Order: sequence, then C-alpha cells, then structure tokens
Amino acid sequence: MAESPRAAELADNLAAVRAQIAAACAAAGRAPAEVTLVAVTKGHPASDIARLAALGVGDVAENRDAEAAAKARECAELGLRWHFVGQVQTNKARSVVGYADVVQAVDRERLVRALDAAVLADPGRGPSRPLAVLLQVDLDARGDGASRGVAGARGGVAPAEVAALAASVAQARGLMLAGVMGVAPLGLPAGPAFAALARISATLRERHPGARWISAGMSADLGDAVRAGATHVRVGRSLLGPRPLTR
Ligand SMILES: *Cc1c(COP(=O)(O)O)cnc(C)c1O
Repeated sequence: MAESPRAAELADNLAAVRAQIAAACAAAGRAPAEVTLVAVTKGHPASDIARLAALGVGDVAENRDAEAAAKARECAELGLRWHFVGQVQTNKARSVVGYADVVQAVDRERLVRALDAAVLADPGRGPSRPLAVLLQVDLDARGDGASRGVAGARGGVAPAEVAALAASVAQARGLMLAGVMGVAPLGLPAGPAFAALARISATLRERHPGARWISAGMSADLGDAVRAGATHVRVGRSLLGPRPLTR
C-alpha cells in the first residue's frame, strides 16, 4: 500500500529537521545523539503523532491539557514520552500528571507543590514514578516581561530565583529535577539568550548534577540552541507545518 501524502510530507520534514540538527551539531563539535528532538504536535491530530512515531520520533509535546489528554489517550499504545510545554494551571495538575512524563514550564513554587501532590495522589505514579520537571527560566534580560505570551509560554522564573525553585523541586518526592527550559525572547537574538541559559544550567548542576537537560530552540532558532548546548529542541512548524486546529 502506498503511503499517504501526509506521511510522505512528515517524513520529508523530519529528514530536513534531523539534517539541520546534524549540521548544527557538526558545527559545534557535538554528536547528534546528544540532542533529542521533541515534536510539538499542538494543533495537529493524533493521526500525525502516530505517523511521527512510525518514523522513529519518541518524544512529543503539547501545551493545552484538554487537547493533550485526549491525544495521549488515543496514542497510549505508541510508547511515546509526553512533554507538557505550556503553562500548567494548578487545577489541571492532576490531569497533566495522568499522561505527562515531563513538565517543561515549571516556574513557580505553587506549581511545584501542585504537581508533587498530584503525582503522590495518582495511583499509577507515586514516588516510584516521579514526574520529570524542567524549570522554565526567563531569558528576557530586558526584564519587562516582553517575552510573555510567546508560543503560549510565559516568561518563566527569574535567573536569580532558579536556585530556590530547584531546591523545592529537589525536595518534592513526586518530582525529579531534570534541568532547565527557555524560550528566546521576542525581538532579541536567540544566541546570547541560549548562552545565558547554558550558564544558568551549569550553575544549577553544581548543586544538582542530575539536572542535565537544556530544552531550548524551536523551529526558528534550533541551530542557535544546539550551538549553545541544548539537549532537547522543541520543533513544531518545521515538522508539521502550520497549525490547523488552533492558533
Ligand atoms: C509551540 C511551541 C514550540 C514549537 O514552536 P514552532 O515554532 O512551531 O517550532 C516550542 N516551544 C513551546 C513552548 C511552544 O509552545
């Protein structure tokens, strides 16, 4: 049976994104295996997730709970790792920990407590299956909150508050501190912002050596992110095209 046009399109896009990652790795003297591609599937149907899984993508990301929960249910048999990259409202924490393996945008104490409580209360989880969390760091050196609203992400925690937030994640039995996440501020060059994130990550790892992930880079700036040391890039448009369902 011939593959569908959409499957062929996704295969082409995936090959192009992987080539882009490989080229950035080569330029930076890094191995492509150091960089995990996270497919941001928000706005696209579960059938696309299944096609990407068949092409070897293992990590997918969503940013809205209702949409993510439905798709995770539909794709439960695919063995994917689910990342939540949007803001988690604390009243959605229970739902999110029901399907997410990683929450990437943790930026406040109250959310740490809500996610921890939700993991500990979930019969399928508890401390033996902690939720991986990334601290979203505000990379906007202008400090005026201009990055808020970008791609559904808020500004994140201020760099000076990272250590305190990390300490509370480290104390939470239901959570595992996996690293940091950043979104390049609108209107500023991405390279310096991602370099700042890499420095924040290095400082964090002095106290929390296991917090090795650096999630940085989207379709527009993944090369900058890889050169700055990103371990995870979050790619939507370049892989899946324009978002049909929302936004
Ligand atoms: C949507 C989104 C992405 C992907 O952005 P693209 O420009 O489509 O690659 C990455 N990170 C976050 C937090 C997002 O919300």
